[in-house]
Amino acid sequence: MTGLVVAMDGPSGSGKSSASRGVARALGLRYLDTGAMYRAITWWMLWKGVDLSDQAAIASRADEPVLVSGTDPESPAIQVDGVDVAGPIRSQEVTAAVSLVAAVPEVRARLVALQREIIGSGDIVVEGRDIGTVVAPDATLKVYLTASAEARATRRTAELTGTSVEAQQAAMARRDTLDSTRKTDPLSMAVGAVELDTTALNLDEVIAEVLRLIKERA
Ligand code: C5P
Repeated sequence: MTGLVVAMDGPSGSGKSSASRGVARALGLRYLDTGAMYRAITWWMLWKGVDLSDQAAIASRADEPVLVSGTDPESPAIQVDGVDVAGPIRSQEVTAAVSLVAAVPEVRARLVALQREIIGSGDIVVEGRDIGTVVAPDATLKVYLTASAEARATRRTAELTGTSVEAQQAAMARRDTLDSTRKTDPLSMAVGAVELDTTALNLDEVIAEVLRLIKERA
């Protein structure tokens, strides 16, 4: 029998990571951050000097990096070619480049296959952009998290140093546009997903609502 799979999709700053980890922790489930996998492959491409304006160059090397993703919600680990990249994948350089790499179909095919392998028989909360639509359309629960552009930028600014809400809002809008308009697996709400607007909710309230939705379905 397949275990619980919770798909958590939405744009950056919608509160996906904190909510997903909180839900996994509360129910003793595993947790997979698929954004970290796209970031890790981007970090590797930058490290290897691949020209990121050249989709064919990215595609031809998509199978090379050896990725290892942990699933412990307490300390999500990610390694590429044996290097711990949990810190470096959050750099501004990677953040600015990741949507270009994530738009390449060969990269997505590779990571979607890896993600399905990790999901396996379930008991996991998976966060990303295409989990409910592509990676796990049969998930027990599909949640689409949203929040106002201002709330999302304010949250991200609080996590970072040396940036303003306005600069952050502009950078996020650029990334959202790239993620929502790409040809392969764009960010969109899955059929059967529950939309949860987190603008006026705190983290505990978001977690409580997702736990309630899981209980309703399980
Ligand atoms: O969630 P996070 O902001 O770390 O994701 C980084 C980027 O990875 C997104 O902007 C998007 O381009 C890509 N991504 C994706 N599909 C996923 C998860 C992330 O395309 N399932």
